[in-house]
Amino acid sequence: MRTIARVFALVAPLFFATGLFAAESTHVLIVVGPSKHPPGSHEVAAGGRLMKSCVEHMTNVPGVQADVVYEWPDKALRDAASTIVFIGDQFPPNRLPNAAQNLADVGEMMKRGCGIVCVHYATGLAAEDVVDDGEHPLLHWLGGYFATKCKHHQSIARIYPAATITPAAPQHPITRGWHEFTLNDEPYINNYFGKDDNHPSANVTILATSLLPPEAPKPENVAWCVQREDGGRGFGIVMPHFYKNWRNEDLRRFILNGIVWTAKREVPTGGVITEPPKLEEFSPVALEYVPPPPKPAAPKP
Ligand SMILES: [Zn+2]
Repeated sequence: MRTIARVFALVAPLFFATGLFAAESTHVLIVVGPSKHPPGSHEVAAGGRLMKSCVEHMTNVPGVQADVVYEWPDKALRDAASTIVFIGDQFPPNRLPNAAQNLADVGEMMKRGCGIVCVHYATGLAAEDVVDDGEHPLLHWLGGYFATKCKHHQSIARIYPAATITPAAPQHPITRGWHEFTLNDEPYINNYFGKDDNHPSANVTILATSLLPPEAPKPENVAWCVQREDGGRGFGIVMPHFYKNWRNEDLRRFILNGIVWTAKREVPTGGVITEPPKLEEFSPVALEYVPPPPKPAAPKP
């Protein structure tokens, strides 16, 4: 018995040092906003559940718990969060009831250094959300946003048969373990980064670009992150539009690395490792895109 105690005394500090024993309390709060997109696209509820499962089963980043909520989270959840992840049609705090209070709540979280992640259309703000010069706290929390038909700036949403996503910051932790990839998706272009002629702020890092659109290609910023003055971190990525693209290991690792980095956990050298998720397990309306039925032709006069 005494030998066992002695061995424990010798070994325990190693476990603490490696984090295997330490009570790492990383908590990811995933907020699903409203969506009206056809089955197989956006699939924000299934996407939220998929992200929860992935972050709770990262084989090389232990001790992460996640909650998924479909309405505005209560104070206990907000206070516990290491990072808040949004998925939905446009930035969910602006689309859920009581937008002003939601934004104030997120502001409180950001002030204490909480992370923020927006996936695909959750990076989006509409003209009604921003003042005429484009100012909105999301610009500072996340580093940039997708400007949907705004007065000051118009980002562009279009589905490309094959968009190639290229790493733009090889040394950044979020870039670990994924490589250039090509997918059929809707990476937004001409995203908005601020009043300095749309140049990202000094604390913003562009993580990935894509040469778009195909007929007049130039490098477009399709993922970025920010290290904020309040100590918090933000990560925005303008994919995936199609639910099936969660199967893409490079894209999935890219997003999971971003969540881990904003939660201030170390991104492993080869990036986050997860088992490939079984997409049907998260109850999407459809795995593959189902186009809406054509609108009935107008009756002949
Ligand atoms: Zn979309």
